[in-house]
Amino acid sequence: MSVRVGILGATGAVGQRFVQLLEDHPTFDIAALTASPASADKRYRNAAKWRVNTPIPDDIATMRVRETSVEALEDVDLDLLFSSLPSSVAADIEPELCEAGYVVSSNSSNERMAEDIPLTIPEVNADHLDLIETQREERGWDGALVKNPNCSTITMVPTLAALDRFGLSRVHVATLQAVSGAGYSGVTSMEILDNALPHIGGEEEKMETESRKLLGDVDDGELSLHDVEVSASCNRVATLDGHLENVFAELEENPSAEAVHEALGSFEGIDLPSAPDHPIHVFEEPDRPQPRLDRMRGKGMQISAGGLRETAAGIQYNCLAHNTIRGAAGASILNGELLANEGWV
Ligand code: NAP
Repeated sequence: MSVRVGILGATGAVGQRFVQLLEDHPTFDIAALTASPASADKRYRNAAKWRVNTPIPDDIATMRVRETSVEALEDVDLDLLFSSLPSSVAADIEPELCEAGYVVSSNSSNERMAEDIPLTIPEVNADHLDLIETQREERGWDGALVKNPNCSTITMVPTLAALDRFGLSRVHVATLQAVSGAGYSGVTSMEILDNALPHIGGEEEKMETESRKLLGDVDDGELSLHDVEVSASCNRVATLDGHLENVFAELEENPSAEAVHEALGSFEGIDLPSAPDHPIHVFEEPDRPQPRLDRMRGKGMQISAGGLRETAAGIQYNCLAHNTIRGAAGASILNGELLANEGWV
């Protein structure tokens, strides 16, 4: 089976990761690329300032970049769209595309918390795709919109899902986030070198709210949030890729560090082409995971954890994920694979 996919915002940091990750995909074939009007009608190799560490696939390099609109996609057959547009742009165009019948798997932050939009990590809450029925009824769409969470949220939430069996009550997290998370034009070298930035606009709120939705339940097409309290402090540091996070999780059953180690390491995966066999790898070494050494585990799709200890504020551990792979393009692709697997595409 071949699934014909389009990438919206294909020239950006996340868009380039889509192109790279889809190069050898077993079923997804890139059939359209879009970007801003400034890039439209250019060949992809001229429009994208290519910065990922493998060459642009030959067939993509010469593909024409389209404008991002329903009309610009009319002459191409597409089964699925991946979106890595700025959220201000996505807020207008994604609903138009869904109304026109497209199924969109999106990275952008608009509508992530809407009650009828699935916000999914396939290993955590695949059943939230049921919200598509509600979405179609309420919005009158023939297509569908599914979101993946923010990159800092997706790094932590699978570990919390693994620990929920102990009664998750309160979580404190501090992040050390890579510069690629801000996009190519996000942070200048003058700002970040020899420095750390203790504020990332809106990021704390995203971690605090999206986590509760991801860990929540969907019953009869209705969403209820998990009642865990999450408090986050988000920091930008001078790593290129890979968000490292220090988590303190208060668990009702007060499990030992050994029991938490076992729960994280045995967290079950999902059978999808881009999913790692084991979603979480747990290190024994206290000084791992580290961004430079560990971000590419499982082709960038595995989450790493380590440094487990019992503290007065609950279990403390560190976790890490590649922010533009597991935290963005890879997350959307995994959601696309889930949509295809469940017959929505
Ligand atoms: P980026 O590097 O700035 O790329 C933005 C893309 O959108 C480019 O292809 C750009 O095309 C296109 N675009 C800009 N304005 C447009 C317009 N008016 N109409 C149509 N296309 C337009 O940003 P990014 O880092 O890839 O992030 C993309 C999205 O993913 C954002 O919503 C971001 O919040 C989210 N996200 C990013 C990360 C991350 O780690 N970077 C993680 C999770 C989620 P041109 O090249 O023509 O300007």
